[in-house]
Amino acid sequence: MKLFDVYPINDIVIEKALGSNVWDDKGTQYLDMYGGHAVISIGHTHPHYVKRLTEQLGKVGFYSNSVKIPLQVQLAEKLGQVSGKTDYQLFLCNSGAEANENALKLASFHNGKKKVIAFKKAFHGRTSLAVAVTDNPKIVAPVNETDNVVFLPWEDEAALEQAFQQYEVSSVIIEGIQGVGGINVASDSFLRKIRTLCDTHNAAFIADSVQCGYGRSGKFYSHDWAGINADIYTMAKGMGNGFPIGAISISPKFQASYGLLGTTFGGNHLACAAALAVLEVIEQDGLIANAEKIGNYLMEQLKSLPKIKEVRGRGLMIGIELPEELSHVRKNLLAKHKIFTGEAKPNVIRLLPSLALTQEHADQFLSALKEELA
Ligand code: PMP
Repeated sequence: MKLFDVYPINDIVIEKALGSNVWDDKGTQYLDMYGGHAVISIGHTHPHYVKRLTEQLGKVGFYSNSVKIPLQVQLAEKLGQVSGKTDYQLFLCNSGAEANENALKLASFHNGKKKVIAFKKAFHGRTSLAVAVTDNPKIVAPVNETDNVVFLPWEDEAALEQAFQQYEVSSVIIEGIQGVGGINVASDSFLRKIRTLCDTHNAAFIADSVQCGYGRSGKFYSHDWAGINADIYTMAKGMGNGFPIGAISISPKFQASYGLLGTTFGGNHLACAAALAVLEVIEQDGLIANAEKIGNYLMEQLKSLPKIKEVRGRGLMIGIELPEELSHVRKNLLAKHKIFTGEAKPNVIRLLPSLALTQEHADQFLSALKEELA
C-alpha cells in the first residue's frame, strides 16, 4: 500500500527530541519554533511527562468509558484549577475538530437553534460541523455544505449586531487569536461585544482555544485577556503535548446532560495521564508566565528589526509578516539555520514554540532572522 501523500512535507526525519530542540537521523540539531504546530506545550520528552505516561502504560493504558476512570476526575479538577474555571464541566474527546464539533452540537441541543456565526479566515477543523465553520471553501465537501453558518468580517461590530437581529443564533465560534488565518488577535472590545450579544440572545459563546489556548498567549485561554468567560472552551493540541486528546470545558449554563455526547477513546487512561502531566509541568515550571515573558521579549525585538511589515500576536503565538519579496526567508531559516517555523501565508512566519522556550532560544532565532533580513 502507498501512503496517502496529503501533507506538503520537508525531506527530514526526526529521530530525537528534547525541550525546544529536535535532531534528525543524521544527528543534525534543529531549534523548534513551530512546536509541531502548537502541540508541544511543555517541551519535547519532558522527564515528568515521560515518567507519568510510561508508568501509566505499565498499569492500564485503556479501558472503556463503561468503568470509573479516576484520572478523568483528577484531570477535571486540575484543569479547573489551572484555568481558573472551577465551576465548569469537562468533556473529553480526541482532537480539536472533535472538540468544536461537540461544542457546536451542545449549544444547539441547549437552545434548540441552528445558526452559527463564524468569522472570515477562521479555522476550526475538518470534520463536518468544524469544517462548515471554517472559512476555506476548498476543504468543504458538498456533503458538509450547510445554510446554518454565517461568516462575518473580523472585528466588525455592526455586522455582528445585524446578524443577531437577522438570525436565531445558536452560537458564535471564535479563536481568541486566529492561527491558520495568519495570527490575528481579537480585540478585547470585540470579544466583549460577542459576550453581551450572546447573553441577550441566549446564544453560546464558543471560544476555540485549540491553538491559542493552554497558556500560549500568556493567559490560560487567550479570551481571558478580555476579562470575559466563554460558555464553552474547546482545546486540544497543547493539552497532550503530542498525545492525542481534546476537550470542551462547559459553563454551568450549558452543562451537558447524560447521553448527548460520547466517544470511545475520549478520556482514556493514557490520554488523561499525558494531560495531567502537562498541567503539572505548566504549573510547576510557571510556563504561562514564561510564555508571556519570552513572547513579549520576542515581539519587542522583532519590532526593532528592519524590513518586517508587521508583528502580530500575544505570548508565544506570533506572526511575522514580511514583504512578499522576502517569502524565501522561512525556507532559509530551516535550510541554513536549522530552525523550524510555521507558515500562515508564504510571507507570514508563524512562531508556535514550546511554552518553555528560553531567552537563549529566542536570541538564536532572532540572530538567524536578522542575518536573513540583512
Ligand atoms: N481549531 C483551531 C484554532 C486549530 O488551529 C485547529 C488545528 N490547526 C483545529 C481547531 C483542529 O484541530 P485538530 O487538527 O486537532 O482536529
